[in-house]
Amino acid sequence: MIVYGTKGTLLATTTIFEECAGCKAQNSVQMYIYQNHAHIFWIPTFPIGKTGATQCSQCLLVFKKKEFSPSLKGHYESLKSNQKTPLWTFAGLGIIALLITFGIIASKRNDEKNAKIILSPQKGDVYEIRIGQEQYTLYKVDKVNADTVFVLPNYYETNKATGLSELKEKGDQHFINEPFPLLKADLKSMLEKGEIMDIDRK
Ligand SMILES: [Zn+2]
Repeated sequence: MIVYGTKGTLLATTTIFEECAGCKAQNSVQMYIYQNHAHIFWIPTFPIGKTGATQCSQCLLVFKKKEFSPSLKGHYESLKSNQKTPLWTFAGLGIIALLITFGIIASKRNDEKNAKIILSPQKGDVYEIRIGQEQYTLYKVDKVNADTVFVLPNYYETNKATGLSELKEKGDQHFINEPFPLLKADLKSMLEKGEIMDIDRK
């Protein structure tokens, strides 16, 4: 479950030198400016504008922004114009951007690693194979003989790529002991076509 919502934070406050519309007291009206932001799991994600309110310190009468008189609106606009949107309200967007950047870097590194190890297969390498739409399995390298690589297919298939980790947990005994040959050049092209999705090397 994703917890999200909005929250207001006090940015500024000032005394308005006007009489209160309720009790007619002088200089008793306090104006508050709030910064609203959206949050996901309580991490501020992005700002969603400012708002304001007034309260009389004598009679406690409160006006929300939409109830402001033209004169209060004028005070509000001038006070608000001096308040910058705090950078921290963008924290969540910053974190998301960082995660995406790290994800792209990690995935690029993994691609480079796979492109390298596909050229020199070793006994024990496990290939994540996409056989077709919603059809995935594992091959395990059994033997390498010059340009020919003998692989053992896994007994199981899954309909989701994420299911392959379960196949790996089932252990080595689920690779069928009927090696079949693939050329190194074929493996390389399978990787390039995405038929080999990832490679585990211990
Ligand atoms: Zn008042």
